[in-house]
Amino acid sequence: MKALRAALLRFDDDGSPRLEADGLLVVGSDAQGRQVVRAAGAWSALRDDFPGVAVEHLPGRLIAPGFVDLHLHYPQTDVIGSPADGLLPWLERYTFPHEARFADADHAASVATFFFDELQRHGVTTALVFATSHPASVDAFFTEAQARGLRMIGGKVLQDRHSPDGVRDDTEQSLRDTEALIGRWHGQGRLGYAITPRFVPTCSDAQLAGAGEIARQHPDVWIQSHVAENADEVAWVRQLHPGARSYLDVYRQFGLLRERAVYAHCIHVDDADRALMRETGAAAAVSPTSNLFLGSGFFDHEGADRIGMRHGLASDVGGGTSFSPFHTMLAAYYVGREGRGKPGMSLAPSRLWWLHTAGAARALGLEGVVGNLARGCEADFLVINPAATPLLARRTAAAGSVEEFLFALIVLGDDRAIERVHVAGA
Ligand SMILES: [Zn+2]
Repeated sequence: MKALRAALLRFDDDGSPRLEADGLLVVGSDAQGRQVVRAAGAWSALRDDFPGVAVEHLPGRLIAPGFVDLHLHYPQTDVIGSPADGLLPWLERYTFPHEARFADADHAASVATFFFDELQRHGVTTALVFATSHPASVDAFFTEAQARGLRMIGGKVLQDRHSPDGVRDDTEQSLRDTEALIGRWHGQGRLGYAITPRFVPTCSDAQLAGAGEIARQHPDVWIQSHVAENADEVAWVRQLHPGARSYLDVYRQFGLLRERAVYAHCIHVDDADRALMRETGAAAAVSPTSNLFLGSGFFDHEGADRIGMRHGLASDVGGGTSFSPFHTMLAAYYVGREGRGKPGMSLAPSRLWWLHTAGAARALGLEGVVGNLARGCEADFLVINPAATPLLARRTAAAGSVEEFLFALIVLGDDRAIERVHVAGA
């Protein structure tokens, strides 16, 4: 066992923040040998409960749960910051040519290494990740995640139509590859597999039906895709599936909405779609830097809350412009404030933080496993320096409440504030 003494952030079950100005976090192995949180709370209350356990004192620092990123594409690490006239031209001009290179296992391995370095530098310890259509890209992803002991979820992209040579796959082979990859990686240590249809326009009915069938056979495997990101994309889906009530409804028809299904964007949706998400237990991965960058639209936080659609935050690299959860939380705040096409609101700083930690874990069905520092949670946590830059130091020192303190970090923070990242305690 070991213990760290510093300010400590965690969340109650209802999402309210608990900040101990002088806290103690105790980590150690559980009965299965996993490194978990043994205790978390006020130093004054816990100081005598663990005699003989060395306490590392970190004055002026904040211990917080590792961030959970609900949606990003590791092969698009080198696509960040590629300008285009919206989603579909961006895919064609930059994304597909980059992804085609992941047929090469060496290239995939080198990008995976860089990608995980970057995630960890920014304090992201769990993520739901797209690979490419090449099985080698999935092997590279999981091999690297396993070597680092990370809790990571990913999968091979399914795209058997409306895609150029080099990334388009074959319907039958793509489904066989998916089943083989589930067998190879799902449940290996902390790894989880996600069935990954790219989005409706690039998947034939046969491929979507096959994906739905695999999802039925493996209820504990995740599903990830995109929905209702961009107006041109929505119009395209309406042409392809004129009988469906909505874009989201196409996924329902193929059995792809359920618990552990996470759909990026969910911008151009209505209340019936939000209710369908709630009833099936599917969740939205809100990707604000990507949506602002590509001009896709503004996620309706009020609508999601009113209907009870589960959601959390995501970087969506490479449409997204940053790996930093601070940047994503700030962008979500901007998107929430927008009040022309939907009700504008000021999302509470603790709410933004929850949506990128415990709330995102709940969206994944991993509540109580990652994203929080409750007793029994896996010991993935950060040591944050709220004085990492002169302005951050000045602003956080002047904060008069928990919300002001967290907001100063959200607005002014970046990877310089992430001083240490602990994965499974280490
Ligand atoms: Zn995406």
